[in-house]
Order: sequence, then C-alpha cells, then structure tokens
Amino acid sequence: MDTPKKESLNFIEQMIEKDLDSGKHQTVKTRFPPEPNGYLHIGHAKSICLNFGLAEKYNGTCNLRFDDTNPEKEEVEYVDSIKTDIKWLGFDWEDREYYASDYFNTLYSYAIQLIKDGKAYIDELSKEEFAAIKGSPTVPGKESPYRNRPLEENLTLFEEMKSGRHPEGKMALRAKIDMSSPNMHMRDPILYRVKHASHHRTGNQWCVYPSYDFAHGQSDSLEEINYSLCTLEFEVHRPLYEWLIENLGIYPSKQTEFARLNLSYTIVSKRSLRELVEGNYVSGWDDPRMPTISGIRRRGFTPTAIRKFADTIGVAKRNGITDVAVLEHAVREDLNKVAPRVFGIMDPVKLVITNWPEGKTETMTAINNPEDESAGTREMPFTRELYIDRSDFKEDPPSPRKWYRLGPEREVRLKSGYIIKCTGFKKGDNGEVEEIYAEYDPETRSGQDTSGKKVKGTLGWVSADHAVKGAEIRLYDRLFLTENLGTIEDDFKNHLNPDSLTITKKAVLEPSLANAKVGDIFQFERIGYFRVDEDTTDNQLVFNRTITLRDNWARKNG
Ligand code: ATP
Ligand code: MG
Repeated sequence: MDTPKKESLNFIEQMIEKDLDSGKHQTVKTRFPPEPNGYLHIGHAKSICLNFGLAEKYNGTCNLRFDDTNPEKEEVEYVDSIKTDIKWLGFDWEDREYYASDYFNTLYSYAIQLIKDGKAYIDELSKEEFAAIKGSPTVPGKESPYRNRPLEENLTLFEEMKSGRHPEGKMALRAKIDMSSPNMHMRDPILYRVKHASHHRTGNQWCVYPSYDFAHGQSDSLEEINYSLCTLEFEVHRPLYEWLIENLGIYPSKQTEFARLNLSYTIVSKRSLRELVEGNYVSGWDDPRMPTISGIRRRGFTPTAIRKFADTIGVAKRNGITDVAVLEHAVREDLNKVAPRVFGIMDPVKLVITNWPEGKTETMTAINNPEDESAGTREMPFTRELYIDRSDFKEDPPSPRKWYRLGPEREVRLKSGYIIKCTGFKKGDNGEVEEIYAEYDPETRSGQDTSGKKVKGTLGWVSADHAVKGAEIRLYDRLFLTENLGTIEDDFKNHLNPDSLTITKKAVLEPSLANAKVGDIFQFERIGYFRVDEDTTDNQLVFNRTITLRDNWARKNG
C-alpha cells in the first residue's frame, strides 16, 4: 500500500511540527512586525508570506504589529500603506492589529520592575563616553560609574526622565547585565532613552521611548507569540531577548532567525529606497521600478506571483542572493494564465489591402486567452488599411526558412484575420518604408479557412480606422545595472540604470483598449504584459510595461 508522500518541510515547519507533536504548543501564533517608517518592499513580502503563511498552514493566527517605538521617523501614511499592501497580498490579520506604542505603559512598568530588582540603572555617561568604556568583542568593557547608584535614585531619575525634566542624551536607562560578555548586546544595553518628540499615536504624552530590543521582545510576550521569526542579523540579539523574558518573568516567546531576501539587480532596504524617493531618482515609493509592494503592484505584478515566488525560494538559515529572474518568471507564469491577449502595435507601419473594398468593415473574432477558454472572445474590425509592426516587415528578407514574417511576395496570416500576400511597398523621403501593399485571400478567413494554405508567419494587426492612438506607454527595465549590490563599495546610486524608463506614444492599439480601466493587465501579443496605470485620465491612456514576454536579460547575457 502506498503511504502518502510527506512534503518536505523547511526548518521552521520542522520545529513547529515537533512542538505540536510533543504537545509543547497547541497552536501557532506568529506576527509580522513592520516599523512604519517607509513602504514595504519585496523582502517584507517574503516575511509576510512566511508569518501569515505558517499561521494559515497550521490553522493558527498571525498578528499585525506596528513596531512604532521611534517617534521621529514614523508616520500614519506608512501605517496605511502597510495595511493596504498586506491585504493586497491576500492576508488578513482580522482584529489583531497591534501597536508597540499601545504597550508603552506596560513597558514602562517593566522598566520599573527591573530597576526595583536591581537589574537596571540610570546611566549619565554620554554616548561617546560609554562607547569608550564598552570595550570590543575581544576586550572586556568597564563598568559605568553610575552602575551602582542607589535604587531610589534610579527610580527618581527615571520618573524625571519620563516627565521631561532632562534633555535628550543626558541620561538613559540601561540593563545591568555583563560588561565583559563576549556578546556586545549584553554589555548593559539601553532600555529607555529621552526623546522630546511627538509620536504619531501617543502625541506628546511621552518624553522617554523604549529601545528596539526592549520593545520588540516584550511585545511578542504580551501577545503570547510562540514563534517570533526575524532575520539573521537579530541572532546576536537573541541572548538579550531571552535575558529580558527570564528577568521579567513574562511569556517565553521563542525567537528564530531566517535569511533575509536579497535580490539581484535590486535594493531591499527602506533607507536606500527612501534615498531614491527623496532624491527624485524615482517618481515616488510606488514608482513601478521600485521593489516596493506598491511599486510592483503598479507595475502589474500580481499577489499570486509574489506568493508563488516566496514559496519557491523558501526559507534558509544562510544569507544568499536570489536571482530576480525567479521573481520575473513567477510573474510571467501567472500573467500568462490570467492576462487577456490584445493587439498593440509598438512601432506601426501602414499595410494596405489593395483588393479589399474601400469603406468595407468586417468583424473578426479573436480569442481572449488561449490558456483560459472562459475568457471568451472579442470582436476586431478588419478594414482596407491596417497597421502592423515595422519589425514584422523586411524589404529584402532572408530565406523563408529563416524569416517567417512579411516581405515582398511573402505570405503570412494576420492573426484572427486573413492570409495576405505582400505585393509591394512605398518608401518615404527619409528612406523608411512608409506603406506596405498586400492582397488578401477571401478563402482564408480565420476559423473558416477553406483554402488549405499553410503559412508559418502570424502577425498582429490593428485597423487604421479604429485604432486607439496616442496612449502613453512606459517601458520599464531593471532599475540597477549591477547584479550584486550587496558587494559594491561606492554609492549604490552610481549603479542606477539610466535606461530604466523609456516613454513612447507611438503605439497603436486595438479598439477594445479604449475601454481599459486602471489596474487592467493585458498581454500585448508577442510583446509583453502591460498594466493600465493610475495616471490614466479621460483623455490620456497610460500603460506600464510590466514585463517583456521573454527574459531579454538572459538572452543578452547568456
Ligand atoms: P529595512 O532594512 O528595509 O529597513 P527592516 O528589517 O528594518 O527592513 P522592518 O519594518 O523592521 O524593516 O521589518 C519588518 C519585518 O520584515 C521584520 O521581521 C524583518 O525581519 C522583515 N524583513 C525586512 N527586510 C527583509 C528581507 N529583505 N527579507 C526578509 N524579511 C525581511
Ligand atoms: Mg527594522
């Protein structure tokens, strides 16, 4: 008898299944903890898919928690964009929307508890002075002269810090741990500092703010998160995470680290992305060239593709770099299934069917998506004057075995139309082909062909009388020219691709596109995928090229 094959589990799933089997936990509780200081990027998407994905898989829950402990850099705009992005990816935190700032009172009382237990003190060394005694991983640090001040004094000073009696930088609350620990994070880390700043949620209520380490782990415990997943750089923070849990006697959340997503030709760091926005290198956080979720959404990437991508790359314990082609492949694969096909002629040249009566229009039927019968068909007017793409015609073509498309005396099928034979062409003053002439064969109407003719070339076309003209088409390419931006030593902005955006208004589009709506994504046959952009107005259609049909970079480089 066949036993069902067990799918392979990643190391986090293995840990979870072990815990569920042993009865250590009955349920899986994860959280996604963004700091609202910028827009989410594709690296965050990986973390979202991981945290929400595990909750889905094990029938648990995933909280959304804003890690909003730094009043200076955080804004409501970012909170809103983060929520929009997670929902768009298809995940739901239901009523579990939390803010670290909601815990400020509790965190403050935790700090008091540590002071009272003799495990925290008010330090008055300046940042520089403390750095000078802190030592290095191989040299033990020295203790601050304020380390052993009386308990009451600590309580009084902390209260004064809270009520705004001290300027920023004058004093801070430090955990009293071990100034000779080989782990620098255990050398009396800061728990609270003075900040005279207004917070996006608590306003001017607080003059002290908890450090990342003091807020993050304690928030996990307060929410009873049993699997606290974070990226590898926090591995060295784990002993402090555990020290605080133990010394406060709070819920023992467990921190597990996984590798960050690094993508070739891509920057995934909010700080650098902000630099691009603020320096006007891009049009905003949602510029379709940005690796932000809002950028790739506007570009035309789909949630299905992103989730598939996250699934494909999995989670690792070691940092590496993922080929951006893997993401692009997921996008092509999904759009191939779901995007309706249309004719868009990027570089049009006139084609006159000389044996077609002037003024006659015939309605052709075109298939919307060969991958999806339910997508149905649409009508395309066929007239005497059409447009085809300039690249589909050669006045002196190579042998028909090498060139299937149009040239003098050659025959091709106009897709969903007729077979035509080229009878001549006319050049303009600039030497460019201006008009191509052909005759159609009435026996070859698509779907009703009785001619028995076989042709290899099939071309896209649009009726000249009915074409949609003047649409703005934004052709995007990769934002950076350098594959591994993690290894460069100069400014990452030196590596920007100067040709990452080309705008053209030359294209002619089939008439059905006059009704295209913002957000619609189409495959322009043989060219690529295009999404109707938010900049579209009643008078101006704007398309973003999501991606070419094939990977041109692979061809260029390999
Ligand atoms: P950045 O370095 O871009 O500012 P961050 O880690 O500071 O990112 P947070 O808002 O603190 O941004 O991150 C929220 C969550 O997303 C964290 O759990 C973090 O580990 C995770 N995350 C951030 N960047 C990546 C990435 N490149 N790959 C995987 N997870 C990531
Ligand atoms: Mg962070």
